[in-house]
Amino acid sequence: MSSPETLRVLNRVFGYAEFRSGQQKIIDHVTAGGDALVLMPTGGGKSLCYQIPALVRDGVGVVISPLIALMQDQVDALRTLGVRAGFLNSTQDPDERRMVESEFLAGELDLLYLAPERLRVESTQRLLDRGTVSLFAIDEAHCVAQWGHDFRPDYLGLSDLHERWPDVPRIALTATATPATHAEIASRLNLEDALHHVASFDRPNIQYRIVPKNEPRKQLLELLRTEHSGDAGIVYCLTRKSVEETAEFLVRNGIEALPYHAGLDAGTRAEHQARFLREDGLVVVATIAFGMGIDKPDVRFVAHLDLPKSVEGYYQETGRAGRDGLPSTAWLAYGLQDVMQHRKLIDNSEGDQAHRRKQAAHLDAMLALCETVDCRRVRLLAYFGQDCEPCGNCDTCLSPPESWDGTVAAQKLLSTVVRLRRERNQKFGAGQIIDILLGKKTPKVTQHRHDELSVFGVGTDLAEGEWRGAVRQLLAMGLLGVEGDYGTLVTTPSSDEVLYRGREVRLRREPKRVVRGRAKRAD
Ligand code: ADP
Ligand code: ZN
Repeated sequence: MSSPETLRVLNRVFGYAEFRSGQQKIIDHVTAGGDALVLMPTGGGKSLCYQIPALVRDGVGVVISPLIALMQDQVDALRTLGVRAGFLNSTQDPDERRMVESEFLAGELDLLYLAPERLRVESTQRLLDRGTVSLFAIDEAHCVAQWGHDFRPDYLGLSDLHERWPDVPRIALTATATPATHAEIASRLNLEDALHHVASFDRPNIQYRIVPKNEPRKQLLELLRTEHSGDAGIVYCLTRKSVEETAEFLVRNGIEALPYHAGLDAGTRAEHQARFLREDGLVVVATIAFGMGIDKPDVRFVAHLDLPKSVEGYYQETGRAGRDGLPSTAWLAYGLQDVMQHRKLIDNSEGDQAHRRKQAAHLDAMLALCETVDCRRVRLLAYFGQDCEPCGNCDTCLSPPESWDGTVAAQKLLSTVVRLRRERNQKFGAGQIIDILLGKKTPKVTQHRHDELSVFGVGTDLAEGEWRGAVRQLLAMGLLGVEGDYGTLVTTPSSDEVLYRGREVRLRREPKRVVRGRAKRAD
């Protein structure tokens, strides 16, 4: 089980000349019977880290993966290389399952893909006892972490693997893990003493850009026309409805776009996915249901029209761009409504207080990335516990945003919210608060006699867009809160620090944007 044999498999079976950085060490270690925990970004080459040891060692490599919909494709791809692969999951009928089981027992498989819930079934465990397992590969290992963004209860059952099969080496792999998630994976899977391989999470060919959201579809169209004409890409939207509408909008504007979401029937979904993989220059507009495990090397852009729920999700989704190493764009349009909507989703979500706290922490980290005046890449990698120099290839590096002292503006805004509540016992949304600050006598202002408030018109030094930016940033910083279905603004415990204890507030100046030749302050 020395390196020459693994290299021979790499050359002959997979047709690659040499290992990529990290692969050889991991493959040798697992081939020799050791455990490993591998953190490598999407496209880094994780699959070979268990496929090659499985081919070299005696017995069948069992791969645990939550991506049931992809098992057939993964198995087909391996078979075309001459690797004997099969899978067991809930989509199969008993006959198919029995056939795979007997292949497994006869040692006629190199790799067996298993859904995690199958492994909890006693009969599956007995099956594995009767055959020879060469290794366990736990793919998408971050799913075992309760603090992570994609926890799956079925994964908890995997902590027993090592007690039940102490002699079988285990390799856990993930493309997304913060230091806390990394530690949780290691402890839940008893991999503290395993070889830990943590690759750099940097994807230098991806240019990260986060822009204020005004008219998102038009902004998207401008991006596609000016920078990505004829390119393949993915556009992520939060809801099925907005997926449909955005795809129609792009088609109406001459861009070949296909929708993809869980509400479409399986046939349509499979067809759209297959076309995206096969054809050049197609755009898929999708919910996050799309993209897991899809290996298309020349995705030139990933655009988000809505804010992702977590930095992990954002990193995973944007990571689908540029696997071929060529320049690619990760573009996100983000606005006040996103913050409101996400805060509301969290408030209304099922689950206990701890669950909501976790979601809020994930959102806060995402908002901090959006509102940073520092290099996006530095912030993104810092979130995953890694350092880098300012990259020179993200929006904040290319056009550094100014920050300004927004303390007085924040005080005006917060005291308007406080006065409405104290003097009138009222709560309003951002629109009304800004109208009051700007001293606008709209019908709604007059109706509520808000022009009689002492704060009426105290904010004419800023433009409406600047006030909206301030509201968004105060929400992002937790200095302002939002409540109920109408997005009414409320103070938070931290608001007092600004109002009464002299806390300074730095705000990010909304960047200039070029619209049809005119420089315009956005949002
Ligand atoms: P991951 O699972 O980490 O996202 P994959 O295992 O799917 O990445 O690998 C990404 C791509 O890189 C695949 O097309 C794979 O065949 C290719 N690849 C992996 N290892 C090598 C290698 N040593 N040499 C050349 N290509 C490789
Ligand atoms: Zn940068």
